[in-house]
Amino acid sequence: MKCVRCGVGASVRLRRHRTSFCEKCYTLYFERQVERAIEEFDIFRKDENVLVAISGGKDSMSLWNVLLEKGYRVIALHIDLGIGQYSRSSREVVEKFAKEKGAELIVYDLKERHGKSLPTLIKERKKLVPCRICGTVKRYVMNRVALEHEMDCVVTAHTLDDCCAFLPASLLSWDLEQISRQDVLLDAGEGLVRKAKPLYRLTDEECRLYVMINNIPFVDEKCPYSRGALSIQLKNIFNQLEKRIPSVKQQFYFGFLRRGKKAFQKNIEEASLVPCRICGMPTIKGRDVCFFCTLMQGKGG
Ligand code: SF4
Ligand code: ZN
Repeated sequence: MKCVRCGVGASVRLRRHRTSFCEKCYTLYFERQVERAIEEFDIFRKDENVLVAISGGKDSMSLWNVLLEKGYRVIALHIDLGIGQYSRSSREVVEKFAKEKGAELIVYDLKERHGKSLPTLIKERKKLVPCRICGTVKRYVMNRVALEHEMDCVVTAHTLDDCCAFLPASLLSWDLEQISRQDVLLDAGEGLVRKAKPLYRLTDEECRLYVMINNIPFVDEKCPYSRGALSIQLKNIFNQLEKRIPSVKQQFYFGFLRRGKKAFQKNIEEASLVPCRICGMPTIKGRDVCFFCTLMQGKGG
């Protein structure tokens, strides 16, 4: 097995591309895929300020490293959700990496800022799925920090696997609005910063290879709330399918971007947004207080 790029012995095989790389060329391939996504969707320019959300896992650490290596103007944001040892290990990895690279990092400690950690919010809202609460918190914090720091764009490390799993998860409940908002790039709106997923061309496994080859530290522990999460089960199904049909993930998600999303978008009216009475961040018209502030107030069941 030879590297398709330089011809030396290959150590990485990518079945979905029917190709092999040596470690050096694999790194080039990976970084090029990120740059290609940025260019293809015109996500941000080199002179724009980008906030990159870093959990400390392999995907976000890969993205952070690529953006730093390629000279983008990035500030990393790590949200300390207060999930026991998992959050402590994650924060440690992220802080150490930022120090080593001389990279700018904002640590947003949820309990310190708002008096409640994620486990507390989950206990107060037993009827809600933990990841839904967590998603609301993360989206809110990312947007708020991006606005406060006058960032042009927020990027997350959602991979091809995440993007694939998201679609059937929304289809199971026929949440057309969620599907219609599924995209690589979401433009800025009133009180909302531009958001994008520059890793959409790469899989979880490819991120794992990138961090291993480049000795990038990452947290290998799983969040305790991920056990039994629908997204993980759907990712497993896609992995099984990919073994039988290499490149099925890519066909599915890239096909959605090319053809599927238009079909959903035309049936959905843009929700009108108004400022939340408490924090001033955007919320859906008719809702006086945003979901984040409602969570923090501890109302509801
Ligand atoms: Fe949040 Fe769920 Fe991810 Fe845990 S698994 S960090 S609760 S989204
Ligand atoms: Zn609010």
